[in-house]
Amino acid sequence: PFDVLVIGGGPAGASSAIYAARKGIKTGMVVETFGGQVLETLGIENVIGTPYIEGPQLMCQVEEHVNQYGVDVMKGQRARAIQKKEMIEVELANGAQLKTKTAILATGARWRAINVPGEKEFKNKGIAYCPHCDGPLFKDKEVVVIGGGNSGIEAAIDLAGLAKHIYILEFLPELKADQVLQKKLHALPNVTVITNAATKEITGSTQVEALTYVDRLTNEEHTLVVEGVFILIGLMPNTEWLKDSVELTSRGEILVDKHGATNIEGIFAAGDCTDSAYKQIIISMGSGATAALGAFDYLIRRIE
Ligand code: FAD
Repeated sequence: PFDVLVIGGGPAGASSAIYAARKGIKTGMVVETFGGQVLETLGIENVIGTPYIEGPQLMCQVEEHVNQYGVDVMKGQRARAIQKKEMIEVELANGAQLKTKTAILATGARWRAINVPGEKEFKNKGIAYCPHCDGPLFKDKEVVVIGGGNSGIEAAIDLAGLAKHIYILEFLPELKADQVLQKKLHALPNVTVITNAATKEITGSTQVEALTYVDRLTNEEHTLVVEGVFILIGLMPNTEWLKDSVELTSRGEILVDKHGATNIEGIFAAGDCTDSAYKQIIISMGSGATAALGAFDYLIRRIE
């Protein structure tokens, strides 16, 4: 059996595997796609100490780092169930069963896509999902934020200090964000809120140039000339497979304590799949380290 089995190969999983393996304990990784969300990121400017790096290059370096420690990396494998018996048992989609003394869940999250024409073509070419990451690219430009929930309104407030003008498109008749955020938003001079707006298409040549939406009350089409579109209609944790095993929040995020421990003894979690307040690369790496140290502490206290 493994001492620590990490599920997931994004920044959180990789960081936990390195921290665990550096303790000299038997560490494995089950990874569907090594690199996680970072593979979808073109330019990263907020990995402290590295002013600029492209996502695929960062994760290539991270993978080399993991490989220096002799971690048993099982790539192209998806975990489909986990349960605690005498040991922790992890079942893979191919039917294999792995046994481990501790597990670290680091399966990340995915942004909900809006699925309109143009979204795929212009990803990283004007379409963005993370204001902390890509906000500065839109300095003095006109942008649309799709989504009037907390993440959309926070993004609009964040972007208002940088962008020239921000249009917020909300599908429903009213914004869903907390009142205090809405109050803050309404005090800003460069924001326009458009409700009952169904995004139809994002267009451009090489970069985003415009967005068309349908007014759901009148059925009229309108076009906004913008250089950026932030799609903030929800971040979904990859935890559907954990519903019957560990405690999740109502949003499906794994509940962890300050050691990264879940409610099941020996099972830890890190990164975007948890209820951490913010979802970023360095935060995931930090929580991965925490979970690995938490697992190690648990192992040395455990009576065999
Ligand atoms: P993820 O990166 O989501 O990795 C999850 C891993 O788990 C993957 O390897 C996946 O294949 C694997 N997995 C999932 N389910 C299973 C399963 N059942 N079995 C086995 N493996 C599984 N953050 C920044 O700090 N700076 C940025 O500039 C930045 N830009 C971003 C741009 C985009 C377009 C996106 C989408 C995100 C961006 N982020 C950025 C956020 C950052 O990418 C995430 O916070 C970070 O990747 C989270 O790391 P993670 O390891 O928790 O999860």
